[in-house]
Amino acid sequence: MDRDHAAPAAAAPSGDEGRRLPRTDVLLADPRLDAATHRLGRDLVKDVIAEVQARARAGEVPVSEIADRAVAALPATAAALRPVVNATGVLLHTNLGRAALSEAARDAVLAASGTTDVELDLATGVRARRGRSVLDALLRAVPAAEAAHVVNNGAAALVLAATALAQGREIIVSRGEMVEIGDGFRLPDLLVSTGARLREVGTTNRTTPADYAAAVGPDTGFILKVHPSNFRVTGFTREASVAELAPLGVPVVADIGSGLLTPEPALPGEPDATSRLRAGASLVTASGDKLLGGPQCGLLLGDAELVRRLARHPLARALRVDKITLAALEATVRGPVTPTLTALRADPAELRERAERLAGKLRADGLDSRAVDTEAVVGGGGAPGVTLPSAAVSLPAEFAPLLRGGDPAVMARVDDGRCLLDLRAVPEDTDPHLAQAVRQAAPRCAAPGPGTEN
Ligand SMILES: *Cc1c(COP(=O)(O)O)cnc(C)c1O
Repeated sequence: MDRDHAAPAAAAPSGDEGRRLPRTDVLLADPRLDAATHRLGRDLVKDVIAEVQARARAGEVPVSEIADRAVAALPATAAALRPVVNATGVLLHTNLGRAALSEAARDAVLAASGTTDVELDLATGVRARRGRSVLDALLRAVPAAEAAHVVNNGAAALVLAATALAQGREIIVSRGEMVEIGDGFRLPDLLVSTGARLREVGTTNRTTPADYAAAVGPDTGFILKVHPSNFRVTGFTREASVAELAPLGVPVVADIGSGLLTPEPALPGEPDATSRLRAGASLVTASGDKLLGGPQCGLLLGDAELVRRLARHPLARALRVDKITLAALEATVRGPVTPTLTALRADPAELRERAERLAGKLRADGLDSRAVDTEAVVGGGGAPGVTLPSAAVSLPAEFAPLLRGGDPAVMARVDDGRCLLDLRAVPEDTDPHLAQAVRQAAPRCAAPGPGTEN
């Protein structure tokens, strides 16, 4: 990895010397930059060179160092997306792309990224059902489901269900479950956009089975139960369970949000697909990149006939996922424990030990760092109101922006004038990189010179 991020030279050349810049084609002949044109594309490398040349022209970079600086400034990949260490203490951070894929899922993505047998039976050489192995994996993980279908995300799963099962008809939904999922997107608007009508029942805090029963009629497409995944209603409340609604004679669709396939002991209040189907839901919808810990996608699990109708609907084609998503999802479902579950189940005492160890090392480097106890949360992906005891390395607040600009970039949390590196969502094997990032970010005055290298 290129980790040479020396600070701008103190004494930059000015005047004539700064203007005699090597030409771009001369720089491109540098073997390191030439190699980069094959890996990253010529335009991208030229852009990097142009930036360094501009800094040299401004006297910020010595002319003799232009090539070296350009090499150091080359991005790791041809895409601008950069890895970010999630030290926020929010396990599923939407701005950081929610769930981190497991090694197994990353390997599967890489293997599937060329041409692959996603829709081909290699034994016979003829076309096969797309994504059959991931559907098998889902049904094996959720035996309570007769069939499964995968779409782009949780919202797409709902849109497909509403379109295929309730277009021109009614979706019965509690007034307590008309939720906004974030960034201004509201489920009621999404459902109405499909041409279904919403039949609201009950009140914000109380909706009874009788409220639903009174609304069921010939126009009913289905009853929708939405898990309030980002807020909690407490106090004088009543909600009808799936088990209470299943006998009403119309399909019950349960949007569980988080994507847990089976109950998770660490989050006893969080709904899961198996329990909802056992309780009598006809269909469960969920996201793939929340607590399931997989790629962005939407799951539909349940009644074979309903799933068949969804999968055959023309809209299904527009919501279809690609081979990379299928590969990542299958490896997530079949593979080892995901980073998300590992973080969720982490032992607070071990987190504290890691924080002590890291803080101690950084203190030895002369930095103002100490271990502190913190509280982490699951995040927009589920379990509102649940806090998870955690531990962090506490640093001066000025570190936060410096860490964001580092390599690897680190997203910390600033609390009470301190920059906290919460370790619950940080995989343990990332600790050395975290320490490295802090050392690099250390303002020179705070660090004992040579300690900032390496
Ligand atoms: C997150 C969530 C959604 C939306 O899922 P996306 O995968 O973000 O499209 C829908 N319903 C609930 C209950 C959710 O928690």
